Amino acid sequence: MLDDSMNRDAVALPQPHPANVPGDFYVEDGCCTMCEVPLIHAPDLFGVCTDNRTYPGMASRSYEHCYVKQPPVTDEQRDQMIEAIQFTELECIRYRGRDELIQLRLIEIGQGHVCDSLTTEQRELSRQTSDRLRRERRRPFWRRMLLRWSFTTKLWMRWVMWRNGPKN
Ligand code: SF4
Repeated sequence: MLDDSMNRDAVALPQPHPANVPGDFYVEDGCCTMCEVPLIHAPDLFGVCTDNRTYPGMASRSYEHCYVKQPPVTDEQRDQMIEAIQFTELECIRYRGRDELIQLRLIEIGQGHVCDSLTTEQRELSRQTSDRLRRERRRPFWRRMLLRWSFTTKLWMRWVMWRNGPKN
């Protein structure tokens, strides 16, 4: 029977961009649209390099690509890194470390899928948390629909009352 770590090894993990410094956090290779979110949330931890390599399906030219230039060391930097992960568009900042606290923080904000080393239990918790957060995000939309529906119903009832009101 395969244990958790063997299962993880069997899954092809995203490749880090070569410009990343060694460390637990990395930017995935080839996924950059220059959203600039990490540069806003964690300017000390991320840099931008010019990438002259050709990616499959893309014409040959230079691209800008962000990368981790400094691993977070202080609590404040760790917060900044997690904030950057939370707000990036393409979810290309990943965590390959095994610090349970960081993994749980990422799971809590619905970003458990950026962790390369989750156990089966953590993966299940991550899936459940993401589902819950998705449901919660959807709620305001339904509330808006409900309000719109009740407003339209009120208008319609007023129109009916006006039509059936006393005639002179
Ligand atoms: S987070 Fe992703 S898309 Fe945004 S700048 Fe970095 S690599 Fe590019």
